[in-house]
Amino acid sequence: MYLKQFEKGRTFIAKLNYQSDLLEELNKICHDENIKAGSISAIGAVSSLKLGFYDQETKQYVYTTYAYDEAMEIVSCSGNISIKDGKPFCHVHIVAADKKGKCIGGHLAAGTSVFAGEVIIQEFLGEDLIREIDEETKLTLWK
Ligand code: ZN
Repeated sequence: MYLKQFEKGRTFIAKLNYQSDLLEELNKICHDENIKAGSISAIGAVSSLKLGFYDQETKQYVYTTYAYDEAMEIVSCSGNISIKDGKPFCHVHIVAADKKGKCIGGHLAAGTSVFAGEVIIQEFLGEDLIREIDEETKLTLWK
């Protein structure tokens, strides 16, 4: 188990631009504001969604793009911020629903197009939270 304590830092809200890339915008906010650790939550809608699924056998992400004629609602989008390769890095998961309420979800990848996005980011202050390759899973996890 891994346990670290942080203090609460700044709280940001952001309204994302139409047709911006959801993950790239989150990473840009963290880079521009130098947010090194924190939590992310977002709601809104997307017009396309690119999701990753980590195949535990092959230890590779498999990516799928979902495109819809109408926006999908972001039912839940949450993630965390830490340092990877010396830079702020957002790890984000998302669940989105179509007009019948059918949901899909997974690991948010770059390539997801925002229809409308309302984001809240809570910064955490403390020692650096750094990601490194984990030998068992081959994922970059907190060290
Ligand atoms: Zn993930």
